[in-house]
Amino acid sequence: MGAADSGKKIWTILELITWGTGYLAEKNIDDARLNIELLLSHILHLQRIQLYTKFDQPLSEQELALFKSLLKRRLVNEPLQYILGETEFMGLKFSVDRSVLIPRPETELLVDQALTLIKQRFFDSKELSILDLGTGSGCIAVSLAVKLPHTFVTGIDISEEALVVAARNAERNNVSDRTKFLKADMMGLKAETFPQRFQCIISNPPYISIAELTQVAPEVKEYEPVTALTDNANGLKFYPEIAHFAQAALTDDGIVGMEHAYNQSESVLEIFKSADFSDEVIVKDYRGINRHLFFCKHRSI
Ligand code: GLN
Repeated sequence: MGAADSGKKIWTILELITWGTGYLAEKNIDDARLNIELLLSHILHLQRIQLYTKFDQPLSEQELALFKSLLKRRLVNEPLQYILGETEFMGLKFSVDRSVLIPRPETELLVDQALTLIKQRFFDSKELSILDLGTGSGCIAVSLAVKLPHTFVTGIDISEEALVVAARNAERNNVSDRTKFLKADMMGLKAETFPQRFQCIISNPPYISIAELTQVAPEVKEYEPVTALTDNANGLKFYPEIAHFAQAALTDDGIVGMEHAYNQSESVLEIFKSADFSDEVIVKDYRGINRHLFFCKHRSI
């Protein structure tokens, strides 16, 4: 890109796609072309597909400068979602920044299963209360509120910065009037903190063990908030808390569902069984690995 640096060369969309893809691939960034196309769409305020109809469009000097500065961030492993400031989850747009975990595709399966169970179980109930423990960006809470028009969803998080992002996402998706975000710690959480009981408690808690944190991708460990990733212990610290809290805070016909690590299914199952939960529903992720567990309080799901 030497010529562009001196302001002489005019770069078109196609030239930047070709050059940028090669450059990122050389630096071992996965999905190089997709990364470049998404950066360009962001800078040019175009849908990705529109790039293809505007291949010969030149970038202005300012656009090129912005492209270079964002590309530099990607080169040092900053996740694309933080660079763009947003991502998609359950077909909805969510703002993200470094104070929140980037919503993951497997967490959509948690939400899908919750939707199925809630619809089966409470199909005739007008108003439901749902609680999302460790809400982060609010992706779970907001998508449940969007997909279930008669629900009120509360999200808690220990991070005030995350709560700001979650509230912004509720607004962005027009569910501010049916969501509430509160600062609270999952550890030692009491049912009395809330004026009502919940038909559904859901959580994607920090479950990476401190030992495994060193092995995750640089995008994750260098950029995502460490308190959202690990419990600083064996990865299982939050589950007995959730189980204990759910026994007290669920309605008698309520359900609890959560995500866990690829190797925690049996341990989480045991934790919930010893807290008197039964009739589990196990959900597998896209790789066929047990990833989510749901239980009901009394009668079977
Ligand atoms: N609930 C959010 C998500 O699923 C945040 C989870 C977390 O911070 N561990 O993405």
